[in-house]
Amino acid sequence: MDVDKTVKGYYDQILTRNAGEPEFHQAVAEVLDSLKYVLRKDEHYADDGLIQRLTEPERQIIFRVPWIDDNGQVQVNRGFRVQFNSVLGPYKGGLRFHPSVNLGIIKFLGFEQIFKNSLTGLPIGGGKGGSDFDPKGRSDREVMRFCQSFMTELHRHIGDKIDVPAGDIGVGGREIGYLFGQYRRMTGRHESGTLTGKGLNWGGSLVRTEATGYGTVYFTQEMMAAHNERMHGARIIVSGSGNVAIYAIQKAQELGATVVAFSDSSGFVSTPDGVDVELLKDVKERRRERVSVYATEATGATFHEKGNIWDIDADVALPCATQNELDGESAKMLADHGVRYVAEGANMPCTPEAIEVFRKRKIAFAPGKAANAGGVATSALEMQQNASRDSWSFDYTDKRLRDIMRNIFRSCDETAKEFSVEGDYVAGANIAGFRKVADAMLAQGVI
Ligand code: NDP
Repeated sequence: MDVDKTVKGYYDQILTRNAGEPEFHQAVAEVLDSLKYVLRKDEHYADDGLIQRLTEPERQIIFRVPWIDDNGQVQVNRGFRVQFNSVLGPYKGGLRFHPSVNLGIIKFLGFEQIFKNSLTGLPIGGGKGGSDFDPKGRSDREVMRFCQSFMTELHRHIGDKIDVPAGDIGVGGREIGYLFGQYRRMTGRHESGTLTGKGLNWGGSLVRTEATGYGTVYFTQEMMAAHNERMHGARIIVSGSGNVAIYAIQKAQELGATVVAFSDSSGFVSTPDGVDVELLKDVKERRRERVSVYATEATGATFHEKGNIWDIDADVALPCATQNELDGESAKMLADHGVRYVAEGANMPCTPEAIEVFRKRKIAFAPGKAANAGGVATSALEMQQNASRDSWSFDYTDKRLRDIMRNIFRSCDETAKEFSVEGDYVAGANIAGFRKVADAMLAQGVI
């Protein structure tokens, strides 16, 4: 088999069948590139339309979400749930509420989720959903009415053995609460395992809030250790200031690093002496303010409306905001500033050009599907606790998360070595995630 030609054929088909979805194309291109190594060794992974099936969602649901704002006006948003692949378990993946949401973005996130969930070693399939609703500037009552309308349709498609949504950008504890309440009302059942990220006194898990950020830092620790470096004393840039960023900052500083900058979509804050995490949480989680407010209240912090957060001296960069936020030019800046490690806390925050720069400049790079898998892994631990009507301690759950992240790192590292691309954690993650899903798909027949 001419692998390059076969893979190009798959990709051309993807472009034709999914026009106008650049993020989805980008996510598929990266995986297909890694799969060339697999297909050269094992042609049977091209059997039974496996790759074509893997790149086509099992089901895509698009629905109208009408709701009434505080002025009595009717607003109409669009809701999505893409149930991509359930070969390993029920679909699992977050909901994103952001004005940029469209089908292509949800498909890219759902596709990534298949491999990420496979890497966790837990029995969960891949899915993703969301809406173009923007919670920013909306009152709690408006958010509640939106969530109730969204769940009025979504409830018929989810369930603890079917599809288990969670949070993502714009969907935190408040939104999960409103969504769960409406699910309970629509079904008449208190089915805790249907949503994760729940409140602690109604089925939530300790560590779930912290899990993605903590997990990204645990993965980075492993990657640094493999290069005989420690996090203690490192200078770290973290983009974003949402759920993932805040807890990445907290864990990195607990481990002795100094976080020298963070951001939101209005600009970035430089913090050469480190971040006051309690103040940041108060500003972002409680008051829901912009990062400039942090800079006015903290000592030694400066807000920059213009400029580039990646243009700062550091050892490690953790992009934790959104897709394609770190491009080739920014990657060059990072390299020039001495950065030696990049781990994606967000999904696909680095462009292909940036990843190419990391390769050339020998910067160790961890893709999101491996580095940020701690969030969904802990969601799966929440499902385990719900199924057994149990709740675990913080320390025990955190230890499980740490072990899972260590295993994901080992799996990426060893798989890269097996395919003679040592240190290429992108290929390692894609191949390790793919093989488990592919073997199960071949075993379960043409579905
Ligand atoms: P949040 O909504 O809590 O925070 C998102 C952060 O990113 C905010 O600081 C936001 O700033 C910033 N941001 C969002 N869009 C943009 C943009 N277009 N330009 C600049 N900044 C932007 O989301 P999360 O922290 O939950 O998610 C962050 C990333 O991590 C996403 O890629 C998500 O898919 C990924 N992820 C999240 C997981 C989780 O458990 N929450 C699990 C795995 C991955 P602003 O407030 O100004 O918009």
